[in-house]
Formats: sequence, structure tokens, C-alpha cells
Amino acid sequence: MESISKIEEVRDKVSFYKTKYETVGFVPTMGYLHAGHMSLVRAAKNTCDRVVVSIFVNPSQFGPKEDFSTYPMDMEADLKMCRDAGVDVVFSPEAGDMYPRGIYDLGSGALTFVEPVAGLTDKLCGESRPGHFRGVATIVAKLLNIVTPHYLFMGQKDAQQLAVIENMVTDLNIGVKVIPCPIVREEDGLAMSSRNTYLSREDRISATVLNRSLQHADKMIKDGVASSSAIIEEMTKIISSEKNAEIDYIEIVDAASLERVETPKGDTLIALAVKFGKTRLIDNMRLVI
Ligand code: AMP
Repeated sequence: MESISKIEEVRDKVSFYKTKYETVGFVPTMGYLHAGHMSLVRAAKNTCDRVVVSIFVNPSQFGPKEDFSTYPMDMEADLKMCRDAGVDVVFSPEAGDMYPRGIYDLGSGALTFVEPVAGLTDKLCGESRPGHFRGVATIVAKLLNIVTPHYLFMGQKDAQQLAVIENMVTDLNIGVKVIPCPIVREEDGLAMSSRNTYLSREDRISATVLNRSLQHADKMIKDGVASSSAIIEEMTKIISSEKNAEIDYIEIVDAASLERVETPKGDTLIALAVKFGKTRLIDNMRLVI
């Protein structure tokens, strides 16, 4: 495995793979890797001849009051996990190389960014994280321009992010196939996340309520409940039974448009964001009804 920080070096490496007609899979991450990330790596290994993982805590997707400066990092452990998983290249660029003219928002010299349309980003996480998806779309576009993979592996855990990137790839004619990968959970059902490390012992236990509320919603739908608001009401009750849980949103939306639906039907996403102390967790369930 090679650990590369320079953009030109990773370009050369991928060009070399392509001269041999090898397919390249790409897994973008912010590091502090866990089994959820590694499931994407496994999917990439199963599909592609070569696997590139990027590790980059992207400053432009964090709000001013968010956890950019405290985001967990353990490069040594990440490199070991990637090596053990048979990754070919770990690309961990410097922020100054990824944003040579600074980040547009900060009034720097950069004049270009990728802005997903409001319809996709003015709801769910976009509502409480203004500018977040602009940062995500911009960094993923940059990384795709550098790595130029054939396949891009992304987790369904970040369902809105996945929708934003799938739309960007279509709308900007980016020559990559997006492969969505299922959510990986801890044994007690909590969706794996680098941010779980922030949780206190008590909050970690309480946070299992998120998956329980999604399971309950699933059961209600299977039992024939056709009203999104009735399902959301029940989920709210379940989550609120944990006194340290502060609900940001619980929504039932069409999985493609992310528009709210009164009745769960077709390809549906039940998505939520809940804070435990200062830690904001997201989770979701996708259902085809
Ligand atoms: P992050 O490092 O949080 O930016 O995540 C990098 C990629 O890993 C994204 O595509 C995430 O959706 C995916 N991912 C993170 N956690 C999980 C999980 N528990 N299950 C599946 N994919 C995940």
C-alpha cells in the first residue's frame, strides 16, 4: 500500500493503473476509520482492481460552530486498517493543496464552488447545517477530478449526502458510477460513526434509541399505518423517552427528491438527526413500500 499526500502523485498512480486497463474504486472519508468505512473498502475490493481511500477532514463542510478543530483523527490506525484490508493507495492531502486559493466562503481568492440546488439541501441536515452540502459537493468534485475513479463508494448512512453526490455526478456529467453501500451498525444497533467517540457512557446507551425508533417505524408501516405524521409522532415519543435526547428532525421523505411524503409509498427514506449533549447523530432507514 502507498500513502500519498501529493495530488500529482496520486494522479500519476491512477494513470498508471489505467494504462493496464485496471478499474479503480474510490472511497472518500474523513478518517478515524471504523467498520462502516471498511465495508465500503470491501465493496470496492470486490468490484475493482485497485482501491484508493482518501482521508481528509474537509474544512469547507463544517459550520463555524461545528467540530472541525476537534474532529477525531488517528492516521496510524487508519493506515493499518487500510493496509490490512488490501487498499492500494491512501490519499491524505494537505488542506493547502486541496484549497490552493482558500475556501470560497472565507472571502479568499477561490472563485468557484459546487452548489447543489436548494431543493436538495434546504431540508433535513441542510436546514441546520447551512453551507454543509456545498462543502461536501465541492470537495467530492475536487477529489473525483484528482482520483478519476471508475467507481465511487458511499454509505447510505449519509443519505442526503449520497443524494447530493448522485445528482452532482449526473448533472455535471462526471464519468463515475456511484455505488451506495448499506449502513453498518454496532451490535446494539447504533449506526457506526466517527462521532460516536464523543458520546459519554450514558449518551452512548441512550443513542441506541435511534435505531429502535426506526425499527418501530418500519413495523408500523408493515402493520399498515399510512400516515407519516402518525409514525413521526410515535418516533418522537420513543426518542423523547431518553431525557438527554434533543431531536433536530425526524422526517419521512421520498428517497430521490427528499420531499416530505404524507404517506410512505414507493422508495421512502425515514431520516433523523438527534443531539445527545453536544454530539449530533444522524440515522435513517430506506424502505421500498
Ligand atoms: P465520513 O468519514 O464520516 O465522511 O464517511 C466516509 C464514508 O463512509 C461516507 O460515504 C459515509 O456515508 C460512509 N459511512 C460512515 N459511517 C458508515 C456506516 N456506519 N455504514 C456505512 N457507511 C458509512
